[in-house]
Amino acid sequence: MSNKISILMTYLKYKRMHFKNRDELERYQKKQITKQLDFVTSCSGFYGSYKGKPLEELPLMDKKQMMDNFDELNTVGTNREEAMKLAIDSERSRDFSEKLNHITVGLSSGTSDTRGIFLVSDKEKDMWAGYILSKVLYGSILDKYEVAFFMRANSNLYESVSSSNIHFVFYDIYQSVEDNIRRLIEQKPDIIVGQPSILLDLCRYAKDLHPKKVISIAEVLEDSDREIICRAFNVDVIHQVYQCTEGCLATTCDQGTIHLNEDIVFFEKEYLDEKRFIPVITDFTRTSQPIIRYRLNDILVERKDRCPCGSCFTALERIEGREDDVFVFDGKENEEIKVFPDFIRRLVMFSGEVGDYRIVQAEDGSLEVYWDQSSDIRDKFLTELEKMASDRGFIMPAVDFYEYSFDRSRKLKRVESRRKR
Ligand SMILES: [Zn+2]
Repeated sequence: MSNKISILMTYLKYKRMHFKNRDELERYQKKQITKQLDFVTSCSGFYGSYKGKPLEELPLMDKKQMMDNFDELNTVGTNREEAMKLAIDSERSRDFSEKLNHITVGLSSGTSDTRGIFLVSDKEKDMWAGYILSKVLYGSILDKYEVAFFMRANSNLYESVSSSNIHFVFYDIYQSVEDNIRRLIEQKPDIIVGQPSILLDLCRYAKDLHPKKVISIAEVLEDSDREIICRAFNVDVIHQVYQCTEGCLATTCDQGTIHLNEDIVFFEKEYLDEKRFIPVITDFTRTSQPIIRYRLNDILVERKDRCPCGSCFTALERIEGREDDVFVFDGKENEEIKVFPDFIRRLVMFSGEVGDYRIVQAEDGSLEVYWDQSSDIRDKFLTELEKMASDRGFIMPAVDFYEYSFDRSRKLKRVESRRKR
């Protein structure tokens, strides 16, 4: 059972927390890290031998490592087999209410051999709910809100937020669009939460919906899509909540800038160039399954100038995509030439007014472009690609064009690489 008081306490704590400057924030983080390391080195068998060591001496972690060491790592005495069985049963029956001794077990997305299991205690869940609310509610926590939440799988993680004044309705994206729309119009949501592909679908019905806030989750929000959604819903900012099973990592401020949630997560940055980095995260609040120096698979782009909102939390230009979606071309000297997703996006934009598109690098390195475009725009695209190939020194790949299509049951990725590496 969720504890409303503890949700409210967390909400108030983070709503009131302000840092005058970066130094103050860093002092706070240092204290939190010390506290968290004291806890994990005492309670997690995996970290036992690191007692008293500074954070940088603890091992880097990733999904595979975490799953391989699942039993020793978690602090609630759960074993992997038992947790996996419960998670799979819940997915199959679509009943997500069952728990292991007050611990919710979930599966993170990924292909079958890379799926991770995550554990969240009731206490952590309340914290998470209070924290998210402190970041996304535009008024007081005591005001009334109708929230429409579009998602793949329901989870009792989200239900913990529902209360008498905050009313959540969940929409299963596998249900028919017409059905969902009818219910949505009846609900009159103040806040709509969904992935960009869903929000784009809803644009057609925007005149019947007047949400005060639109929140994008789970997929990369492309600039061009953001503009379409803003225009349709007549809002200035599309709020983004960048969150994964490993934590709630970033949220958008009133100015529309995404800031890292440095009040609950410490970020180490593995730089790829002067502003792109892979985040390595340490969460101050996760205790059941500690997240310590966990390397994510995402590429974030840092914004160098300060955000006008005045926050000292690191500002992002954007969330660029998965590290796996970097395109890899064959160089003229037989080397690998990597091209970040954002440059591929720009390539498409430079070809003209494109609208919906997907561009996939196939396993063999060739490109598949899905769009409904004229031969002029195709030619322009090929010219731009040739120019990029000669500038960067890679061999021009084969390119095939197809009609635009998108499988609704998957995440919409406009730029995707399937190249084996
Ligand atoms: Zn800001």
